[in-house]
Amino acid sequence: MTGQPNNVWIPDLLFYENRFQTDLAVVCDAHGKIAEIIQSDRAKGGVRLRNRAVLPGLINAHSHAFQRVIRGRTEHRSANQTDSFWTWRELMYRAANRLSPDDVYDASRMAFLEMALTGITTVGEFHYIHNDFNGRPYDDPNLLAKQVVRAANDVGLRIALLRVAYARAGYEKETDPLQARFIEPPDAYLENVNGLALDLKKSVGLAWAGVAPHSVRAVPLDYLKRVAEFASRNNFPIHMHVAEQPAEVKACIEEYGRSPVALLETEGLLNSRFTAVHAIHVSAKAIKAFGSSGAGVCACPTTERNLGDGVVPVDSYFETGALVSLGTDSQIQIDLLEDARELEYHLRLQRTQRNVLAPVDDTGESALAERLFQCATSNGARSLGFDGGSLQPGAAADFFSLDLGDPSIAGAGAADLLSCVVFSSSRAAVKDVFVAGKRIVEEGRHPAQEEAIGAFANLQKRLWV
Ligand SMILES: [Zn+2]
Repeated sequence: MTGQPNNVWIPDLLFYENRFQTDLAVVCDAHGKIAEIIQSDRAKGGVRLRNRAVLPGLINAHSHAFQRVIRGRTEHRSANQTDSFWTWRELMYRAANRLSPDDVYDASRMAFLEMALTGITTVGEFHYIHNDFNGRPYDDPNLLAKQVVRAANDVGLRIALLRVAYARAGYEKETDPLQARFIEPPDAYLENVNGLALDLKKSVGLAWAGVAPHSVRAVPLDYLKRVAEFASRNNFPIHMHVAEQPAEVKACIEEYGRSPVALLETEGLLNSRFTAVHAIHVSAKAIKAFGSSGAGVCACPTTERNLGDGVVPVDSYFETGALVSLGTDSQIQIDLLEDARELEYHLRLQRTQRNVLAPVDDTGESALAERLFQCATSNGARSLGFDGGSLQPGAAADFFSLDLGDPSIAGAGAADLLSCVVFSSSRAAVKDVFVAGKRIVEEGRHPAQEEAIGAFANLQKRLWV
């Protein structure tokens, strides 16, 4: 046996090689990786995780942590108008314009704490508040990005800081003062993202940078191409909101004579490092472009249903072989397994069918659950440019345990447990969470929980009096 005794964990069931297995132990090395998976009778001195199943940590590929502050604040009808994504966005912008650097930290830490408590071990943070209240860069133009990274570090999550490029309100649109904190010219943006990436190298794999041109609405083509070139040169992940709302598609056709996906495809911007977030309002031809280019899609169903965005046609994306990942996006709920089940459930409601996303060539008990669980784990890791999302020697030691006695999954065995996890498990079943081999949540609690919640409650009081 290798590894320190307290770095060997022995659950009742371990999700290894795509199925739950008994009598196995996870051995973590001193560098936060899995050294080996061994037979539990060889794991002398290891820690027994009694009545627990251990699974790879969930990967949240799309988050705006600060939006946690508007949870519960937008669920009412505005006077004299039909509510939509756009009326919600106005309320969200108003909150974004009131957050100090310390507030950004407190809001982010709250969101990340909740993520950790639900089994999320890595977050892709699509970060776009850069400037001060007057729309000018801080002395350190990465100040707010670093506040977000610090919040993730303090909770113990891994983070890909996807630094957002933002230039304008939209095609032929007047400047919106509520977007002043987001906007940077391309030279400044590229210098800042480069500076941030260098800074994050010190974090030994716990934090890294990616690029995120916000959308075709907010970033004109010449700027977008510069960001894409930078990403190619540096092998960075590139994430972008694509076709979340029909109005964005319409404006893109007016400006370029092409839909957003057609624009990205014809300009050669789709590749295996590219993830289109949402990608809802797309044609069949556009979906094929994902398969042929290797680009991925990040669906955020709990947010998409809350904002009235529409349904991601995941069945068609699966048919093309596109990589589908998941995100908690607006943080209206933080529960990535709920996003996983919604991928399927939205299509069931639309089609009045069941098991829409089950692979046609595999009728095994958990083939559908496996597919959805992959979206919540390894697909998310690939989208963020991170080698994780499964438990195997050499991989990051990021995993979580579920209480097999929790009422939501009680009675499940090796064969049906994954389907129970994906379709039925409650967040309350999550008991231990490990990142880089370190236990950051124990018995369903995080050591900084009271402090983080207290600071966040104070922030909310100040923001909403
Ligand atoms: Zn988003």
